[in-house]
Amino acid sequence: MIVEPKTRGFICTTAHPTGCAVAVNRQIDYVKSQPRVEGPKKVLVIGASTGYGLASRISAAFASDAATIGVIFDKPAGNNRTASAGWYNSAAFEQRALAEGLYAKTVNGDAFSAAVKDQVIQMIREDLGSVDLIVYSLASPRRTMADGTVYNSVLKTTSGDYENKTIDLRTNAIVPVSITPATPEEIEATVKVMGGEDWQDWLKALEAANLLAPQTVTVAYSYIGPELTHPIYLNGSIGQAKRHLFETAQAMTREMPNVKAYVSVNKALVTQASAAIPVVPLYISILYKVMKDKGLHEGCIEQMYRLFKDKLYVTGAVGAAVAAISPVVDEAGYLRVDDWEMRPDIQQEVDRIWPIVATENAADYCDIDGYWDDFFQMFGFRQPGIDYAADVEIDVPIPSIPVEDETAG
Ligand code: NAD
Repeated sequence: MIVEPKTRGFICTTAHPTGCAVAVNRQIDYVKSQPRVEGPKKVLVIGASTGYGLASRISAAFASDAATIGVIFDKPAGNNRTASAGWYNSAAFEQRALAEGLYAKTVNGDAFSAAVKDQVIQMIREDLGSVDLIVYSLASPRRTMADGTVYNSVLKTTSGDYENKTIDLRTNAIVPVSITPATPEEIEATVKVMGGEDWQDWLKALEAANLLAPQTVTVAYSYIGPELTHPIYLNGSIGQAKRHLFETAQAMTREMPNVKAYVSVNKALVTQASAAIPVVPLYISILYKVMKDKGLHEGCIEQMYRLFKDKLYVTGAVGAAVAAISPVVDEAGYLRVDDWEMRPDIQQEVDRIWPIVATENAADYCDIDGYWDDFFQMFGFRQPGIDYAADVEIDVPIPSIPVEDETAG
């Protein structure tokens, strides 16, 4: 099949298998070109197929030779339809991991469900015996509970209407945007979906199955950002969920003797999740320009490798032979890889540009091409060196998933 991008709003409904494989292998090559990290050995990544979760899996496997199990929620190809990008990414990841002698398996299904937790627990019990790192990197619009109740997360303010501007991703025009406040029920639902409850359910299930290593680390991801995004992010409905995520980390560290739980604050980047947030795509395209001009731009893989190397797996000076890790956290207890994004010189430049950016001058102040390159590359398009006019096999297996088990995510 000849695969072309088909976009609908901020979503691309097709994905290119070769392009996704090239992107994954480029991330792997980046990590392999960097110094090794004395990091985790047996890793579970929940939300492992795209964005920060995929980059975490790649960093663990290729900087520290870790065995990885990835939980994904993706669609295989079928009926003249391509698989989702996360499916092709996971296939490419496993192929490379296996070629380099690393254990890698993937479970495709709803991470919120008990069935997927049970399947993963059985896999860890049979194959690995325990895990020493659990990365929780879900970004989901909804959560279905065991009794069938569905919670939908919303991206709204929590106190009054908010007027600002954003980039219209269909036309690249800079347009006014007005965001209404969430109702208390909507906030509660957003916390259910994007807060820490399911993260804790995973840790509790692993603990009950006796599968946590004596010094288990677990990390989930959050965002803080500059003041201009606070009404929609930090102080918005999603911010409430992220606060719950952090409180859950503190509770798990307090209550689970084997566990140290962290929240890492990451940089704003183009991913399938962030494209859906009003104001944020415009902020990202200005940020990209400013950070690229200063030589400070990072993508998901640079962020996650730096998280592992410079923030999380930092060994402290300890006695005995076992070097315990001493993660580098800020005064509130967060790991911070948004440190370069939040540098005063970067934010002052964004602040200078924000009030003056408009459709007519967007090309001068925003990295719109960089935004769209990242967007299309997430789906395997716009990769240099690929002949997109050529026929390509769209039915690509993930080695560890038997064909008859391919569940449509
Ligand atoms: P993403 O959309 O690229 O990744 C989300 C992953 O979760 C995907 O692999 C998806 O398949 C998986 N997923 C979603 N629902 C699932 C389900 N029910 N079961 C199993 N897997 C499921 O998004 P991302 O931006 O990498 O987000 C990951 C985390 O990082 C989120 O917590 C997000 O809030 C956080 N974060 C993102 C940014 C950013 O700018 N992108 C910045 C800071 C923090």
